[in-house]
Parts: sequence; structure tokens; C-alpha cells
Amino acid sequence: VKNIAVLTSGGDAPGMNAAIRAVVRACSYYEVECFGVYKGYEGLIHNEMEKLNARSVRNIINKGGTFLKSARSNDFRTEEGRKKAHDNLIKNSIDALIVIGGDGSFTGALKLSEEFNFPVVGIPGTIDNDINGTDYTIGYDTALNTVVEAIDKIRDTASSHNRLFLIEVMGRDAGDIALNAGIGAGAEEILIPEEDMGIDRLIESLRKSKKTGKTSSIIVVAEGDKSGKNIFELGEYVEENLEDYEVRVSVLGHIQRGGAPSCYDRVLASKLGVGAVETLLEGKSQVMIGIVHKQVTIVPLTTALGKRTHKHDRLIKVADITSV
Ligand code: ATP
Repeated sequence: VKNIAVLTSGGDAPGMNAAIRAVVRACSYYEVECFGVYKGYEGLIHNEMEKLNARSVRNIINKGGTFLKSARSNDFRTEEGRKKAHDNLIKNSIDALIVIGGDGSFTGALKLSEEFNFPVVGIPGTIDNDINGTDYTIGYDTALNTVVEAIDKIRDTASSHNRLFLIEVMGRDAGDIALNAGIGAGAEEILIPEEDMGIDRLIESLRKSKKTGKTSSIIVVAEGDKSGKNIFELGEYVEENLEDYEVRVSVLGHIQRGGAPSCYDRVLASKLGVGAVETLLEGKSQVMIGIVHKQVTIVPLTTALGKRTHKHDRLIKVADITSV
């Protein structure tokens, strides 16, 4: 491997810049050329790339977002689009690709690799922490801290007014943000996609909390929760069925993606970025570099794309116990 390209794809996540920096500097260290591709697969299809050197990535380790920009590309979902992307890789003499993104990005990378026998390595970059085969994804820790800080602020106003707040956080398929931020911010209830609590049990539980002297409550709701209602409908239902509480809804939205990456995310991104380059230099392909029990680990992309084996049981119990 002599020329490696790197791109960021899908939703951006804090720490992606730190990962790009680590890739570029590892290339420099091992004396291979590094190309930065702009706008994810879209940029690959339109040949938007340039050579990067160790100095091109100065002053970015502390920045949120991704300086290479990210995009969603419908063209890359087609064989024709991927052919164009491959043609551009060959035109630039690139012989391996590092993709920083989530499961959609990995699916695309695997297709490109299988169709053209082109070496690819994935780095998990998404705030959702929803990828199998890695304990953490880049951006998740920062997002968690952002969410906890936001909930702390909402708690101040909730407790000043005897209000019940429903707070929606990101997580369509994974309850990691909701569950951990919920515990960290002392939420009364947490609704996640992996577990159907049942609305009636929720009302019952809130009623019980009220009887034990609670005057305000925070309920953290993941986007993909199983209540079957959107957060505003859920808010109305709770207000109708629970006496003496004013209900307010707050959707945290995109603030969860932004901000300077936490130290944990910067270090994780640095480890995975270096690991990705080393893995390509060892001749491996179609794998993801993840972190398992603090060790950098190489797993097949097919495993990364498989169903998550991660269990939340213990955390759910801790949440139950600490919110009595
Ligand atoms: P996030 O978790 O932040 O949403 P993601 O990587 O899962 O990140 P997606 O939008 O699902 O984000 O995917 C990013 C890009 O990967 C898509 O815009 C598309 O170009 C490519 N991609 C996704 N799925 C496929 C697929 N089945 N075949 C080919 N390319 C795909």
C-alpha cells in the first residue's frame, strides 16, 4: 500500500477531525501518501480530493465536525456511482480507502471493496454508539456529555416550577445515549428503542414517584423509543393521565452532534486512526478498527454490520434502582 485515501461519511460526529489527523500523521510516519476526500462518497464520485501532509491537519484535533465535510450520497448506492468512485481512486493511484462513518457508510465501503477487490478499512464515527464489535464509537462520549449538560440545565427550571420534562435525545436504534445520559443526569424514567416499557407503566411509575415526594421529573426519551407516539403526543398523553403536573417537551436535536470533542473521543480517534493505517499496511481489508475492553481490535465489516450483541440489562436495573 503506497497511497491511502480517507473520507468521512454519514452524520458528522465530534472527533472525526482527530481521526483524520491520526490517519494523515500515521501515513506520514509510515511514509505513505495520504489523500483527503471531500464530502464523503459524493466527493469520491466527483474526484474531489487532495494530498494531505502532517501539517495539513494542524489545529483540528480540538474541533467538532469534520474539515473534510461529510455527505449522504444517493449515487454511491448505485453500481454506476461506485464504478465512478473506483475509477477516480485508480486515476489518483490510490490503493486503499479508510472510511470514517456509521453502518450505512460501512455498507457502501464493503460493496465497493467486493465489487472491485479494493482494500477498505472502516473507523466507527457516529454519536449513536450503534455499531457492533466496538464498545465505543467516535463522538459518542462527547455527545453524552453535551446531553448531560443540557439536562442539568433543564432540571433547574423543572424543579423551580414543579414541571415534568420529556427530553428527546438522539438514538433511533440504540438507547446508549438515553440510558447513560439519563443515569448521569438523574432522570426519573428513560425510554429506549431496545425495551418496551409500556406507557401505562410509565404513568404508574411517575405517580408512585410523586407519592414519595418528588415534585419535578425528567424523562429522557430516545428518538426510536417503543411508545409508538412521538414526543409531543407522549407529552400530551402524560399530561392528560397524570394529575398536577405541567408537562413540557424539549427536543435536544443537533446540539448533540456539535462541540469540541472530549479528551476520550480525541484519544479514541487517535488510536483508531493509527490502527486503521497499520491494518492496511499489514495487508488487511474489509475490516473495522474498534475498541473492545480498552484494546484496539480488528473485526470484519460483516460483523460490524451485524446485529449488536450489546446488552443494556444491568444499566436498566441501575437506572431503576437509582431513580426510586
Ligand atoms: P450515521 O450513523 O451517522 O447515520 P451512516 O454511515 O450510517 O452514519 P448513512 O446516511 O446511512 O450514514 O450512510 C452514509 C452513506 O453511505 C450514504 O449516503 C450512501 O452513500 C452510503 N450507503 C449507505 N447505505 C448504502 C448501501 N446499502 N449501499 C451503498 N452505499 C450505501
